[in-house]
Amino acid sequence: MAITAQESTGTVTLTIDGREVSAAEGSTIWEAAKAAGIDIPVLCHDERFDPVGVCRMCVVDVGAPAFAASCVRACENGMQVKTDTPEVERSRAMLTKLLISDQPARERDPKQTTTGDNELLALADTYQVSGDTSLPCGSGRGADLSSPVIAVDHDACILCDRCTRACDDIQGNDVIGRSGKGYDTHIAFDLSDPMGASSCVSCGECVAACPTGALTNKPIRNIPIRPRAELDAVDTVCPYCGVGCALTYYVDRDKGAIAYAEGREQPGSHGRLCVKGRYGWDYAASPQRLTVPLIRREESYPKGALSADVRGDMDKGGEANDHGMTNDANPKGKRKGGKRGRKPGGLVDYAEVLPHFREATWEEALDLVARRLSQIYAERGPSAIAGFGSAKCSNEEAYLFQKLIRTGFHTNNIDHCTRLCHASSVSALFEGIGSGAVSTTFGDVINAEVAIVTGSNAPANHPVASSFFKQARRNGTTIIYIDPRADKMADHSDIFCQLKPGTDVAFYNGVMHEVIRLGLTDDAFIADRTSNYEALRRTVADYPPVRVEQITGVPADVIRRVARIWGEARSGVIYWGMGISQHTTGTDNARCLIAMCGITGNIGKPGAGLHPLRGQNNVQGASDMGLIPMFYPDYAKADDPGVKARFEQAWGAADLDPAKGLTVTEIIGSALKGGVRGMYMLGENPFLSDPNINKVRKALSKLEFLVVQDIFLTETAEFADVILPASSYLEKDGTYTNTDRRVQLGRKVLDTPGQARVDWEVVQDIANRIGLSWDYQTPRDIFEEMVSVIPSYKNLTYDNLGPTGKLYPNPDPEHSDGTVVMFTEKFNTNDGLAHLVPAEWLPARELPDEDYPFVLNTGRMLEHWHTGSMTRRSYALDAISPKALVFLHPDDAAELGLADGDMARVSSRRGVIELEAKVSHREARGNCFIPFHFREAAANLLTIDEIDPFGKIPEFKFCAVAIERADG
Ligand code: SF4
Ligand code: SF4
Repeated sequence: MAITAQESTGTVTLTIDGREVSAAEGSTIWEAAKAAGIDIPVLCHDERFDPVGVCRMCVVDVGAPAFAASCVRACENGMQVKTDTPEVERSRAMLTKLLISDQPARERDPKQTTTGDNELLALADTYQVSGDTSLPCGSGRGADLSSPVIAVDHDACILCDRCTRACDDIQGNDVIGRSGKGYDTHIAFDLSDPMGASSCVSCGECVAACPTGALTNKPIRNIPIRPRAELDAVDTVCPYCGVGCALTYYVDRDKGAIAYAEGREQPGSHGRLCVKGRYGWDYAASPQRLTVPLIRREESYPKGALSADVRGDMDKGGEANDHGMTNDANPKGKRKGGKRGRKPGGLVDYAEVLPHFREATWEEALDLVARRLSQIYAERGPSAIAGFGSAKCSNEEAYLFQKLIRTGFHTNNIDHCTRLCHASSVSALFEGIGSGAVSTTFGDVINAEVAIVTGSNAPANHPVASSFFKQARRNGTTIIYIDPRADKMADHSDIFCQLKPGTDVAFYNGVMHEVIRLGLTDDAFIADRTSNYEALRRTVADYPPVRVEQITGVPADVIRRVARIWGEARSGVIYWGMGISQHTTGTDNARCLIAMCGITGNIGKPGAGLHPLRGQNNVQGASDMGLIPMFYPDYAKADDPGVKARFEQAWGAADLDPAKGLTVTEIIGSALKGGVRGMYMLGENPFLSDPNINKVRKALSKLEFLVVQDIFLTETAEFADVILPASSYLEKDGTYTNTDRRVQLGRKVLDTPGQARVDWEVVQDIANRIGLSWDYQTPRDIFEEMVSVIPSYKNLTYDNLGPTGKLYPNPDPEHSDGTVVMFTEKFNTNDGLAHLVPAEWLPARELPDEDYPFVLNTGRMLEHWHTGSMTRRSYALDAISPKALVFLHPDDAAELGLADGDMARVSSRRGVIELEAKVSHREARGNCFIPFHFREAAANLLTIDEIDPFGKIPEFKFCAVAIERADG
């Protein structure tokens, strides 16, 4: 057969099993064969890794004296390859026999703990070989069962290194290596630690990669893991963070439960998951699910907290004023010597709270909700009603919920947790570029010469996005990490700037000062695509690096270096988290990031742009749907008469509220003063998520009527008049929009328990009871209506979202994945320009002093989510991370006389908590960090409810606290 060299086109032509095959230059024989539909068996290789050619299963005959490993051997022009000669097959059979002889006895049946797709066993079946029974079974290297979620059977390991490469190359966790010599060689975690005691973050990527069952998922909630073929596969999306990883649940219909989850290919997440996505789904099967509507008993009025520990906190918290300050001058002193009397465990004690409610029918509960909310509305007007929606609900549910509050109660008092995460970012982005969504995706980092990651503990909060950051760095992207904490992202950065908390504006002004001084600005971009540059230049002129060093603590030389790298890069992108947004200067912080990109031309091209990493799985979608008080769907201004008229027409409604509504914190403040009197809480738990929660509790107690719709008896629900049992995302169809603007279909996996109902149906039932005539039959109906009023979602349909979803804006309904890079020509502002807004650095509102000498920073842990109502009911997540901790610098801990595990008492002007100390080299001196998920040590008892004046986001990242030994 003629062989044609095609070097000029970058392809080579070879013959494989008698067929002429063309392949891209540099491809391996294995890749070329696969593309031609010829399968070559392999054990050590996976397309996602660089090949290593160690198992020799993929050998082929290339006419040379020795067989070649096809996974590493590059194709050559004219090469004659035979993949299945008798000699090649004999070699593979012999290799399989040797490997299988070394395996644990087959009667141990690894299929009990694997997915039934053990590749080595499948090869043994193919080649009809069994182990040599004259040899002892297994290598005798033993097992490691120390991880709560992963079982390690060293005897089944063939040292193919797939797990190592999955851990290093895909997830960037660098946990697995090798230890031992000769026959004792085995995979090792860190320095041969037990897996459960190592730095493993339980992402399960190694399990997904293992071809032999040496690494397997442990059954969760005793649901045995049966072979994949015996289970139902349901494609959906992860319910936790804004990364929105695509996954498949394998469902055991006999047990009515999920057996395990696997990552699924999708252009954003590429099959990766973190511990929450892979192992954190069993909360939906918790016996604590609400399964019947509940009405507060007559004798449990007047309303107030039902749990003794909450009443205790409220008594001790002092009266908080509008600024979050207590009227008690020294709650620290008042509390001293007092016993807290908390129960262990941390969740609401059902036995204590449930007796205050009686069971009701849906009819009775819904009638009561409609009657009481209507009554309050009739007596006190629209401003007395408010709704908190949830970023955990689907787009359809968020859309219906805001429509109910707006059209049923004629108020824009509707908000959700976006107020608590990125409201300031959105405020700055709207002002600067006319859009609150990201300008590029997290995966686009691969095209960036330099990426700034700032105010984001991405490996904990957006783990899969962080894996792309780490991977980009291995491919040459310079990562600059800027944060007050030296968390894991610092380990994966080229430059780490550990700035003092609350000094971000000064830092970025300093960097811009240097970029301008060095002449590294993109003058053409500034001239053609931005406005207000001169004002920005004048402001940052006052921030020379030497002054900025004094404010931020970052050495001037490092600031200069960052400026040079940023200014010289051909493409630079900024990813930020709530360390930027959750400040009283959050909008100013984000303005600086917009200006950083604006003056260097780093928006509107690949590998460049602005990306606030969104927190909850559907916080982008809920905001797009108008679950915010100042915007109708698609960010149409609520106080614009034209917008009001447009929605009145679209919805067939009259008298929509002509003014902006109140935000989350304003609604709480209004409830305290008797303004808002009736509230509908859909899946939100402000009891733990809002700042200064004693104030929140008092506000909830003052409400005339509160209906809580949720899947568990949350802390907020104990203040409710009516509790409606809702659906988890596993129990319904709907769409979710991730941080990248990817709209994906979530599909029903399980039935709702008991009488619990799908949320959108409940909202519709209430709407109809208050006089609206709604008749949505399916989420698809709602989706079609919402797309009709959301121009950004144009060209998206339930049918064209497919298994991987689509990014919006989507110019092509048929084929496109949507738009990765936005603003290539112009911005969404009125004049099409990016508005550069200068900001002066301002100190935080409550600085440390003699009484409260530490700065408290709050945030999330990898294993937990928000108020913990889901993750603390997940067996795996709770087992890995069961308790509240305060993280302290070693020198601070030593001065306080605290060691790991000692109980510390942390107090602020608003409250006091006790929790275990964790000595951590990741904290700076004088700072401490407390995750906010834990009811028994609620960090938000301490936080201040001062807010950013533009985004109205609270200052979760900075308040003054005192720390002492709890037994002191
Ligand atoms: S679970 Fe993840 S972090 Fe742990 S060893 Fe496996 S790949 Fe590495
Ligand atoms: S990174 Fe986020 S979306 Fe992905 S699996 Fe983890 S929690 Fe879920």
